[in-house]
Amino acid sequence: MLEPTIQLLWNLVATDSVNPALVPGGAGEENIARLIAAEMRSIGMQVELTEVAPHRPNVIGVMEGEAPGRSLMFCGHMDTVGVGGMAAPFTPLAREGRLYGRGSQDMKGGVAAMLGAARQLASSGGLPAGKLIVAAVADEEHASLGAQEVAMRWRADGAVVTEPTHLEIALAHRGFSWVEVRTRGIAAHGSKPLEGRDAIFRMGRVLARLEKLGRELQAMPPHAIQGTASLHASLISGGQELSSYPENCLLQFERRTTSAEPDGVALREIHDILRTLKEEDEEFEGSAELILERSAFEIPSEHALPKLLRAAVTRVGRVPREGGVTYWTDAAILARAGIPTVIFGPGGAGLHSREEFVYVEDVLACRDVLVELAREFCAGKVTLHAS
Ligand SMILES: [Zn+2]
Repeated sequence: MLEPTIQLLWNLVATDSVNPALVPGGAGEENIARLIAAEMRSIGMQVELTEVAPHRPNVIGVMEGEAPGRSLMFCGHMDTVGVGGMAAPFTPLAREGRLYGRGSQDMKGGVAAMLGAARQLASSGGLPAGKLIVAAVADEEHASLGAQEVAMRWRADGAVVTEPTHLEIALAHRGFSWVEVRTRGIAAHGSKPLEGRDAIFRMGRVLARLEKLGRELQAMPPHAIQGTASLHASLISGGQELSSYPENCLLQFERRTTSAEPDGVALREIHDILRTLKEEDEEFEGSAELILERSAFEIPSEHALPKLLRAAVTRVGRVPREGGVTYWTDAAILARAGIPTVIFGPGGAGLHSREEFVYVEDVLACRDVLVELAREFCAGKVTLHAS
């Protein structure tokens, strides 16, 4: 028989929740949301399901404390990426202290830990003070519809996103922008150089400037945790056939941003590049627009939330470590909505790849830390801001 939090993790991994916006026909969050809602009800939480898209609910469980205090949110996403190449993605396998299966690390381990923490609090006499909000959200792997909905309607004095951090307290990560660039030429027969204008050569000029910009960004002084900004050309297409001058070229690139940079920096940079190219050659035609922008995330190490989290880690007999993560998370959305947030979750390996696993012991340690944190944070004895 498995330990109850690990049994819950097993059940979560066994429930297909592939994000249908990433993989057409993917199962989505409906079934796993039902499972999580039942778990929350059996813990005694008030449960609310809200659809963020058809058949794609968020599940929020609330536990009220015995006395007034602060509110703390645990937030984790229910969806996973696709299962391409995996032999048995939804048949969890527990072996040598690891639990294998799609989503085990990213991030059903963290979701099991936060639900396990709520259960532990409830069964040990309840939350002494304040309020615990457990948010299982949809669609993080695509457009974060779930976290956006939570950020719009819920307030909390602090939040922990339990994405996998190897039990390190993650205080920051970079943001990103996706930008689309079009260059236009004039279609003509390949034998008519006087008539044709080559949209792909024009994009070549854009690419050369972007590459130079990318090098400059990486040569800038790095942010202590986030490192430097960067960019890469992700996708490109253009032209009609071999014998013609291409009329159009389309480029999509990604720009990773730091907290030190203003909103909209990626679009401003590409507009500057296009303006310069137009000044150099008035025949040049190009335009750019933003596809998606997500801000960077950062919380000071002296803030009460990471401080109390460090203390909680120490109380479960571990040495607190602080750092950042390379990937983007819903923490940026919660923080942007004014909820101080940290990222803290179990370790494992293989997220988004063919063999994914989470360390069982880390899931249990994460759960125990969350219990300690909720008791202290919600009691509200420490001031929230460093200064
Ligand atoms: Zn994730």
